[in-house]
Amino acid sequence: MEQTFIMIKPDGVQRGLVRLPKLFSLYLLFTFTYYVSDCVKLTGFLVHCDYLRFSSCLKLITVDRAFAEKHYADLSAKPFFNGLVEYIVSGPVVAMVLEGKGVVTTGRKIIGATNPLESAPGTIRGDYAVDIGRNIIHRSDAVESARKEIALWFPEGIAEWQSNLHSWIYE
Ligand code: UDP
Ligand code: MG
Repeated sequence: MEQTFIMIKPDGVQRGLVRLPKLFSLYLLFTFTYYVSDCVKLTGFLVHCDYLRFSSCLKLITVDRAFAEKHYADLSAKPFFNGLVEYIVSGPVVAMVLEGKGVVTTGRKIIGATNPLESAPGTIRGDYAVDIGRNIIHRSDAVESARKEIALWFPEGIAEWQSNLHSWIYE
């Protein structure tokens, strides 16, 4: 099953766009789903993609400069690179892996364009951000980069599992 790496950037975390669920007593998957979906609309993400799920532990993590530079290595020649690295190390981020049919493409669509001003209303960046350097959320741009990013952010590996709902969503 296709996987993508999603990260709520420090501004998304500081702005309270990732919140604890109101109903702690619910089944763990549900709890995890709502943990991120409450405000950044990953509920929509889950619904629109037929069936996506967290395929690993979702984690809150503060990364250092070297790590951020590695994550954005392909942008190291860009004039905004230093500012970008400062931004990513400026506070904790929420890192996660989502899994599902077509999840990389769907993730891109739902999160929207790099510049929030060019992101359609209804996309996460379009609805919650204004400036390109404060666009609150990252998603992998291709299956191959997703693989690299997942290996970087989850060196401990991914907990594989399959929900009992699987055959009700996939034919
Ligand atoms: N970025 C920026 N200024 C720019 C272009 C990008 O600050 O002119 C930041 C922005 O936070 C973006 C990140 O660098 O999300 C990575 O850039 P990329 O082109 O990979 O955009 P993304 O894949 O995140 O849409
Ligand atoms: Mg990118």
